Amino acid sequence: MQDEHQGFDTEAVHAGSEPDPHFGAVSVPIYQSSTFAFDSVDQGAGRFAGTESGYIYTRMGNPTVAALEEAVALLEHGHGAIATSSGMAAISNVFFTYLEANSHIVGTDSVYGPSRVVVEKYFSRFGVESSFVDTSQPDNIKKAIRPETVMLYIETPENPTIRLTDIAACVEIARENGLLLVVDNTFATPLLQRPLELGADIVVHSMTKFLNGHADVVAGIIVTSTEEQWARLRRALNHHGGCIDPHQAWLVHRGLRTLGLRVRQAQENAIAIAEFLRQHPAVEWVRYPGSPDYAQRELAERQMEGPGAILCFGVKRGLEGGRKIMEAVNLATLAVSLGGVETLIEHPASMTHASMSTEDREAAGITDNLIRLAVGCENTEDLIADIGQALETLV
Ligand SMILES: *Cc1c(COP(=O)(O)O)cnc(C)c1O
Repeated sequence: MQDEHQGFDTEAVHAGSEPDPHFGAVSVPIYQSSTFAFDSVDQGAGRFAGTESGYIYTRMGNPTVAALEEAVALLEHGHGAIATSSGMAAISNVFFTYLEANSHIVGTDSVYGPSRVVVEKYFSRFGVESSFVDTSQPDNIKKAIRPETVMLYIETPENPTIRLTDIAACVEIARENGLLLVVDNTFATPLLQRPLELGADIVVHSMTKFLNGHADVVAGIIVTSTEEQWARLRRALNHHGGCIDPHQAWLVHRGLRTLGLRVRQAQENAIAIAEFLRQHPAVEWVRYPGSPDYAQRELAERQMEGPGAILCFGVKRGLEGGRKIMEAVNLATLAVSLGGVETLIEHPASMTHASMSTEDREAAGITDNLIRLAVGCENTEDLIADIGQALETLV
């Protein structure tokens, strides 16, 4: 691990981007090759034995992929990283590597849906048991821990309710109970939150979101705090697949270089939009870590370096009000996902969470009138004008 860090943007621009040794290309070359030639039998043998550095086969490592991994590991202040074909491939590889038969995992109840499905539906076949609880209250975590618990898996801020989990408190609980603490840092990005610095063991990302930032690639990454974890996860991925393609890795690395610029612009927009919504007569409430009335403001300020670019709010007229806003916006795009340069709007009760009963949704904090806004990098006044005209249809 590197002790001295330069500024975030300096590292984002330069990490993993040494000029190429062959022709001095300033952009990392795309090594679109499945396999790598050996100079001799001995060299090939040495690479397999691990006594010689160099590449063998792209599932096990590739120079373009390595450049991206180096950059993300640096930005997360981690030891090393392993890029994957999707965020779910990263998360599944962590579960596959660390969940033993008949072990138990404690997680955030509203984690990204498939992260929970993988555990509850697939790992349960091997006797893995799970407790997904409201981790915004550390006591709920303590109560859920059993002798066979091996992992604490959290997501903060959580989606779409924008509640936070106290990472430092989780570090303490994990250490006391000998658990591996894994944090999905997709929403906050390493610009705003670095769980490994706070003592977490492993960070996972859907790079599909902010790290790539242009809504054109699906990809993921695992960042570890130690060499031992890195080697174990690397070996596991080499065997069961899920590796990233070099061209996909190159696209993500290009997007990563402007991560700071994009997140700061989107966050500035989100701060202005949250304030506008708070004043609007068609809005019942706003939940955003940057708002003065945010319930976990102290935690947000302690754990994050900024409130981020995602907020949720409740409109008048419940389910119908939410649907109406979806139909009325022009600039904000009606779509799931987040973290791209374009603003996306989503109404969980009529879209992503429509299959749940109203009671189950309410229990999970997803009221019928909740709208999630994943703010992008457009000009602030244009976004406010668009959301404002949509809200006028409710007054
Ligand atoms: C999108 C997302 C994932 C899954 O990532 P994919 O790249 O779609 O596989 C995991 N966690 C969070 C928080 C996400 O938003």
